[in-house]
Amino acid sequence: MTVRVRFAPSPTGYLHIGSARTALFNYLFAKHCGGKYLLRIEDTDRERSTPEAVAAIFSSLDWLGIKADAEPLFQFEQASRHAEVANALLKNGKAYYCYCSPEELQTMREEAAQNKLPPKYNGMWRDRDPSTAPAGIKPVIRFKSPQEGALTINDQVQGPVTVQNIQLDDMVLLRADGTPTYMLSVVVDDHDMGITHIIRGDDHLTNAFRQHHIYTAMEWNVPTFAHIPLIHGSDGAKLSKRHGATSADVYRDLGFLPEAMKNYLLRLGWAHGDDEMINESQAIEWFSLEGIGRSPARFDMIKLQNLNGHYIRLADDQRLLGLIKPQVENQIGRTLMPCDESKIFQGMGGLKDRAKTLVELSESAIIYIQPLPHDEKALAMLTPENVEHLKKLLPKLAACEYTHDALEATLRAAADQFNVKLGQLAAPLRVAITGRSVSPSLFEVMSILGKEESIKRVKGITKS
Ligand code: GLU
Repeated sequence: MTVRVRFAPSPTGYLHIGSARTALFNYLFAKHCGGKYLLRIEDTDRERSTPEAVAAIFSSLDWLGIKADAEPLFQFEQASRHAEVANALLKNGKAYYCYCSPEELQTMREEAAQNKLPPKYNGMWRDRDPSTAPAGIKPVIRFKSPQEGALTINDQVQGPVTVQNIQLDDMVLLRADGTPTYMLSVVVDDHDMGITHIIRGDDHLTNAFRQHHIYTAMEWNVPTFAHIPLIHGSDGAKLSKRHGATSADVYRDLGFLPEAMKNYLLRLGWAHGDDEMINESQAIEWFSLEGIGRSPARFDMIKLQNLNGHYIRLADDQRLLGLIKPQVENQIGRTLMPCDESKIFQGMGGLKDRAKTLVELSESAIIYIQPLPHDEKALAMLTPENVEHLKKLLPKLAACEYTHDALEATLRAAADQFNVKLGQLAAPLRVAITGRSVSPSLFEVMSILGKEESIKRVKGITKS
């Protein structure tokens, strides 16, 4: 059997990171098994589905590199096929017309509420002769859900889960206007797409029982189910906007690398021993449904940032330059010239050592274009005494060769001469050069900036 899985988002908003993880699990499972990963846009809710949401989903999946093995399928376009299946069920006695009026349904709901029971259709048209149908009412088609016995689903994550069939009422398959319901569309599409495994959030577990019965009624193979626990926030509640960003797109804008995000999402709810850093080929090699945990994982921003820092250090410098360029240009208010890019590129090793996000990286890269605005700690270094030292240092900096070692030697000699510790001289110099009290190696920064620019920056302090 060739594994075929799908990710089936409803395009009613951005791609939630929980959904991104579902997509990732499906993708990795397909790749691990040598199968196919497909994408289906569940756009049957015409009021809530928007082209902008479809575009946002595509763009987030694209960013994460979760690429489908075929063109996406749009569920709404399959509506006539869904109606065909509803009619087939009607024909073989597995479904029936229901002529209930909205008032009758309302009464049923009220009765259930009075008896403290969940709302449930009472099956009033299940065995009734359609010739008794009231005139002028367009019927819906309801599924004749088995009422006896129990159904057990051997979920690959949750284990065996049993529901008494009596709990499942006769759901609507086709509305009076001929449009299919979500429950029917999902089953028909999964069957037609040849889906073998359904991996999705455990908020869909209860749907699986209803869907299972539709498969059986159509005498179709039932796919294997794997319902993964949702992601929770640090307080243990379901991850929501209140915990911070939940949109995959926002994480791109916050400066996370897609490979870090994928690694983090993978580890969120799936484990391979104690491995934390897992690259894509390892993930494909190791991924299994058995590795998915049963309890909800907690989203931890600090862990994600640390992981992102690791991936930034591993990333190619030229690629990083390309990624931060728009942000740097935005901050300095002009386009980067080749000589600017070259300086940032040369300094990338030192810059990326400290950055946890691309936003931090782009902010610190600006030191190669202009000093950063002083923060409080930096200002505190610029005492009159320190500024005096910088003044005396200027002729030495003018006579020095701009290599790391020569700069260091010059500074050491000057510190001896001024009778101060090296740090006492280097700290205000760092502020003059970078604007900050913390930066990549000062001598590296100065050797990349060169003599003219370095002296100009020191003069910017000593003259003011
Ligand atoms: N469209 C559903 C959702 O976005 C997923 C349905 C499914 O995976 O079966 O929650």
